Parts: sequence; structure tokens; C-alpha cells
Amino acid sequence: MQCPRDGRKLETRTIEGVDIDACPHCDGLFLDQGELAAIEKAYHEHASPPPAAPDPVDAAMDMARQSRRAGAICPKCQLQMSPHEYAYASQIVVDGCGECGGTWLDVGELERIEDFFERERAEQPQGSVLAGLLQRLGLR
Ligand SMILES: [Zn+2]
Ligand SMILES: [Zn+2]
Repeated sequence: MQCPRDGRKLETRTIEGVDIDACPHCDGLFLDQGELAAIEKAYHEHASPPPAAPDPVDAAMDMARQSRRAGAICPKCQLQMSPHEYAYASQIVVDGCGECGGTWLDVGELERIEDFFERERAEQPQGSVLAGLLQRLGLR
């Protein structure tokens, strides 16, 4: 399979005991259906203390930036993938293939998803984006 971003040949890489296809050039990752869930499960089994939540305003801007980029082409089906939020309120936009259920992650997105797992696990109350904005504007 080829990288949907730069056309390099994807290589097998093992993350959390799961074999996935990775681009040696841009570090993008292609996960077959269920592989992301398998990584999440493995991750929860040896998780470290939760990181601090990202600045909600920065996260919202980051999400807006990610939503604007073009969806990747599925390396497996050669079909246009559609960007969607990884999980409710995760503020992480990933490309999903409606055909094979695969997911493309650009470099850094897996780390962000892992941070999200951590925050979910810790069940810390997450301030809403709106609350963060209002606070910044001095409206609260
Ligand atoms: Zn690449
Ligand atoms: Zn596909």
C-alpha cells in the first residue's frame, strides 16, 4: 500500500503489539478496522499518569485547521476517506474509509488520541471549548 499523503510505500510497524502500516517518510499511519480499538485496549492496560488537558482554545483552532485539510485516499481501496472527529469531544479529526473501515492518522494524531484515552480514563471534568473562550474573553 502507498501513503495517501506522499505516495511512499507503507511499511509494517508494531504499536502496542498491533501490526499497522506506517509511512517511513511522513510517519502517517494506516489502521485497519478494529486496530485502533486494539491499540486503545492495549494502551489502557499499561497507561501512565494522565497528561494535562490541552488548552481548549488551541484545541478548537487545531480542530478547525484539521477539518479544512483534504481527506486522504484510502491506501487499501483507493477511495476518498472522510474526515471525522475520532470520538465525541476528542477534538481530533481523523480520516476514515467508509468502504473498509480503515483509519488514516497523520503524524502526531496517534499521540493525541493516546492523550485523549488518558484523559477519558482519568475522568477529569473537561471544560467545554465555549467556556474556555468565554473565560479568555473575560466574560466569566
Ligand atoms: Zn507519507
Ligand atoms: Zn478503505
